[in-house]
Amino acid sequence: MTTFSDLGLIEPLLRALTAEGYAVPTPIQTQAIPKLLEGRDMLGIAQTGTGKTAAFALPLLQRLDANRVKAQPRQPRALILTPTRELALQIAEGFKSYGRHLGFKHTVVFGGVGQGQQVAAMNAGVDILVATPGRLLDLMEQRHINLSKIEFLVLDEADRMLDMGFIRDVKRIVATVPAQRQTLLFSATMPSDVMSLASGILRDYVRIEVTPPATTVERIEQRVMFVTREDKKKLLSAILTDKAVSRVLVFTRTKHVANRVAEQLIKSGVNADAIHGNKSQNARQRTLAAFKSGKVRVLVATDIAARGIDVDGITHVINYEMPADPDSYVHRIGRTARAGSSGAAISFCDAEEVGDLRAIERTTRQQITVDTSHGFHAAHVATRSERQGGRPQGQRPQGQRAHGKPSSGKPQGQRGPRRDGGRDGRDNRDGRGEKPWDNRSAA
Ligand code: AMP
Repeated sequence: MTTFSDLGLIEPLLRALTAEGYAVPTPIQTQAIPKLLEGRDMLGIAQTGTGKTAAFALPLLQRLDANRVKAQPRQPRALILTPTRELALQIAEGFKSYGRHLGFKHTVVFGGVGQGQQVAAMNAGVDILVATPGRLLDLMEQRHINLSKIEFLVLDEADRMLDMGFIRDVKRIVATVPAQRQTLLFSATMPSDVMSLASGILRDYVRIEVTPPATTVERIEQRVMFVTREDKKKLLSAILTDKAVSRVLVFTRTKHVANRVAEQLIKSGVNADAIHGNKSQNARQRTLAAFKSGKVRVLVATDIAARGIDVDGITHVINYEMPADPDSYVHRIGRTARAGSSGAAISFCDAEEVGDLRAIERTTRQQITVDTSHGFHAAHVATRSERQGGRPQGQRPQGQRAHGKPSSGKPQGQRGPRRDGGRDGRDNRDGRGEKPWDNRSAA
């Protein structure tokens, strides 16, 4: 079995990994680290949950260490661009823990908060900068940040950045980075716009592909419950009577519904909270911390707010409302079954959402097991789903299991989702709801 030291990592990094409790490298780490240590550019097709942060952070730290220079004010040596503040914070956390024995200065910049502290951190000298594109450009224009000393450029979740409309910002940022650099681009999916961005900025790159949509998704027990819109509340409460449903992420499409669901849960005595874009950054961080520590049992979130939430041990993801597209479904359910554990994903599907369900099943090429337990099963919705999708008679899996323990068995009919993550699923939407990546309306 490959170990981290086989990959050529230096001792201070190995010590940090031991402290983190990482015993063996994940597949993406095994593939990426040696090539990145050689200085190669990389196109990584991988999503969050694969260990990709360490896959790029470790070699980057080691290469920075091989050629140490004093941290300069406003002029970082490494830039990691990422779509959301949650991801930015998480990546910075990674650098902090992996680099704890190396003493580099890193900082994070993102929008939605005052810029004072970020500017002060830049002025104090910085080696590694993790940033979201909008705020970064803003600070560059104000001359608080200068990218002329960048040696390492990482574009993380490139598909998300493009989905969120950051393409022009990203291009403007990249244009100011020296051509002589090591460049990495990671993306969960590889549609043509991401590919053309990649070929424009990478040189003689190594392409690595891990298939966590498949491997992650395979460890997740997926079920759909056909239910009327009115019964969703009661169904959620019924599921939560099971103590084994202990750390739960509930997804809604809008912040309005997120708030309502959280309020109802609190009223019924469940420790719950909501996280979405209307809340201040501090409030979101507090909520997330309470969820991580277990004080909050149920976190209700919109897609954008939950992007990249990295909390280990989420036992259940519940789609209170179906996601608007298959990509979001894969992202949502990927919040459970992190780092090798298993988990369960339960989708509440009402009559209007049958089209969304079918799009998900088509794209991921898997049939989601139907669960009729708890007595809220809406037969007419199920029938409608059969009509729309043509579930073959007699093949419909009947999941009657209790919710407690995610079984280790794979749901029936499951194959890995398509690598392109189902962009075409968006064309199949029934037009309800907003794009989950549209910050203005959905988060
Ligand atoms: P990422 O894909 O970077 O978001 O990482 C997903 C999760 O896996 C994070 O919680 C990491 O802390 C964890 N992780 C990353 N690498 C390893 C490893 N080699 N062993 C165990 N856990 C890991």
